[in-house]
Amino acid sequence: MKKRFLSAVLAGVLTFMLAGCGGQGESGKTDQVSAAGGASEVVSSEGTETEVAADVQAIKDRGVLRVGVKNAVMGFGYEDPLTGEYSGIEIELAKALAEKLGVEVEFTAVTAATRTELLDSGDIDCVLATFTITDERKESWDFTTPYYTDHVTVLVEDAKGLKSLGDLVGTTVGVSSGSTSAKSLVKAMIEEGLISGDGFDEESFDPATWTEGVKFQQYDDYPTISTALSAGEVDAFCVDKSILAIYKTEGRSYIDAEFAPQEYGIATTKGSGLSAVAEELVSDYLADGTIDKLIAENGLE
Ligand code: GLU
Repeated sequence: MKKRFLSAVLAGVLTFMLAGCGGQGESGKTDQVSAAGGASEVVSSEGTETEVAADVQAIKDRGVLRVGVKNAVMGFGYEDPLTGEYSGIEIELAKALAEKLGVEVEFTAVTAATRTELLDSGDIDCVLATFTITDERKESWDFTTPYYTDHVTVLVEDAKGLKSLGDLVGTTVGVSSGSTSAKSLVKAMIEEGLISGDGFDEESFDPATWTEGVKFQQYDDYPTISTALSAGEVDAFCVDKSILAIYKTEGRSYIDAEFAPQEYGIATTKGSGLSAVAEELVSDYLADGTIDKLIAENGLE
């Protein structure tokens, strides 16, 4: 309550300053202040001048931080189908980030395929959705220091008798569009010497055209891959273990391999003020033990 009041005061100060600019006939300054990536000077509660990035100020003025989260990943981002309540470590971090900004939080369910489009279009301010930090992705978005590390594995129907990475040679594997899964699996199979790796190029790898030793079917969401696995449309379902957990029903098992560490970070628009705020939150929470506490509280190892 107190924080929301403070942000209202800051917004008031900003409005006053803008009005002042107009009064002096300095046209154009209003645009400058509100331009993305720009910064406005406001007076803090201590009376000192602090820089608030324009994108952060816009969130404060709106009074709501819009966060893209998963809705079916237990312990990370999970929406209770009965109550509509969200829970998980990523939900807690999103709430903490909103509180740091003195605003409410609003969740939008995203998939691996939609999360970056929604961030780029400005429909959401940040992504907290089992989003793996990669060098390639860092070229397009800012990521915080990781708050969790998962691994990729593979879910199969027991009836198929697939038990190891080697058993996957010659199979078709279901993966999500926009995920790291297919590349991670191919790399793991190459490292194990199961496939030659001829023609594998980290930069240009495309699951749609890869046929060397294993093939991929790409889907827009995980429930569809799970259905395809039951129907025998694919032989296996590959993604991070945390995501697979909810689809590991009776008669299904993980193969005997975990590979490709997946470090999850909060993603924000490159160069935005929110990137710095998110990084401060995660760094502080890693240093003071809050992340460890959240991992334990959400049943994650
Ligand atoms: N974490 C992986 C990725 O970012 C798997 C996809 C997902 O998060 O849904 O690509």
